[in-house]
Amino acid sequence: MKVAKFGGSSLADAEQIKKVSDIITSDTERKFIVVSAPGKRSDEDRKVTDLLIELGETYLEYGSAEETLQLVVERYRSIAEGLGLSNDIVTTIENDIRNRLAYNVSDSGRFMDQMKAAGEDNNAKVIARYLQSIGFVAEYVNPRDAGLLVSDTPGNAQILDEAYDHLYSLRERDGISIIPGFFGYSKEGGLVTFPRGGSDITGSIVAAGVQASLYENFTDVDSVFAANPTVVDHPCSIKRMTFREMRELSYAGFGVFHDEALIPAFKSNIPVCVKNTNNPSADGTMIINEREYAMNPVIGIAADKGFSTIYVRKYLMNREVGFGRRLLGILEDEGISYEHIPSGIDDTSVIVEKDQLNPEKEERILHRIKNELNADDVYFEKDFAMIMLVGEGMHETVGIAARATKAMSEQGVNIEMINQGSSEVSLAFGIHDEDVDKAIRGLYEEFFSTKEVLQ
Ligand code: ASP
Repeated sequence: MKVAKFGGSSLADAEQIKKVSDIITSDTERKFIVVSAPGKRSDEDRKVTDLLIELGETYLEYGSAEETLQLVVERYRSIAEGLGLSNDIVTTIENDIRNRLAYNVSDSGRFMDQMKAAGEDNNAKVIARYLQSIGFVAEYVNPRDAGLLVSDTPGNAQILDEAYDHLYSLRERDGISIIPGFFGYSKEGGLVTFPRGGSDITGSIVAAGVQASLYENFTDVDSVFAANPTVVDHPCSIKRMTFREMRELSYAGFGVFHDEALIPAFKSNIPVCVKNTNNPSADGTMIINEREYAMNPVIGIAADKGFSTIYVRKYLMNREVGFGRRLLGILEDEGISYEHIPSGIDDTSVIVEKDQLNPEKEERILHRIKNELNADDVYFEKDFAMIMLVGEGMHETVGIAARATKAMSEQGVNIEMINQGSSEVSLAFGIHDEDVDKAIRGLYEEFFSTKEVLQ
């Protein structure tokens, strides 16, 4: 049996939901369907989840948010009408959202989780109802009833191991199960959402739980591409890639998946296929455990902006026992996680996501590093981007780093940092934000320009 997850753009309106229903019902193995909230119908449109966030925040501030509430209800009304469903489902949805607004607002994190989850939850109900109306055995399954247990961390749920045993019993259900993505329940019974984009995580968890033969992730592209199509013209598509490669690419800015999403499927050895709702006969991209990489040692290039570097220099740093721990301890005290730490003998740089910083924190960090660690020099460098070359075959292929640095130097890109070795499947470069597009184009030209499909 298969688990299929459909993203927001695949479910943005009634026409899209009809396409999705055709896909679901065209294969009797598609038994477990995980759905997102309705996404954007056009570039100017708004995702239902974004509307719900606005609704919740406005309500928290002013105690009422009727206008936004009506925008959400209207989205569902137009979907229900387009699907030929009776108006009572719209009334049920409106009541559901009003009930959520009546939830205790004193705990804003939990209140917002209730609001955000309304998008997926109501969409799953609509889709189940539609499938029933066209004659299929289909049922909405609430994540609580499915036993999708998560940590009690609002907005940042982590799956609990015991959830997988509960989910396994879903296999006994008849017909098609429609499960809302993006949230689960804590052991205490509270609703908790995953981070944004978290329906992918639910899909992967359900696939691992029911031990699916395949996890299909339907989105709006024919395949995963070797580079960002908004930067490179018609990049080649990837037919097959490994979990590790996809994980590295997602981490470094590939928008295809939430970067944590593949872990449950990977751990359970369930292959994942990325497919296009608008062109379901296209092969898509298979994500598997191992691939033959002799032909394509490098599979993709990704880049992500928004990093800062803390540069620290101290003579004889390499001899000082505990220096690294104390440095990272200062960051830990400030609640900051790090991405990379390239080091020399007398210096080290800690690369962090800049969203975690603010001017006061920076000031405090600099002061503490200087005083407590007696650093000779310490400063922040801003507007840093990470560019990653990813591929299973790289560590066995001679000359990849040389080709990559040459390609970037020909574009006039100054490389501030290189990190290779700790990951066998990626080579990371720190460059300045403004050089990212040039660097991607240069690397693409060097590694992929003569290829159409990466096998
Ligand atoms: N609807 C949620 C979001 O927009 C979750 C998802 O679509 O995966 O983030």
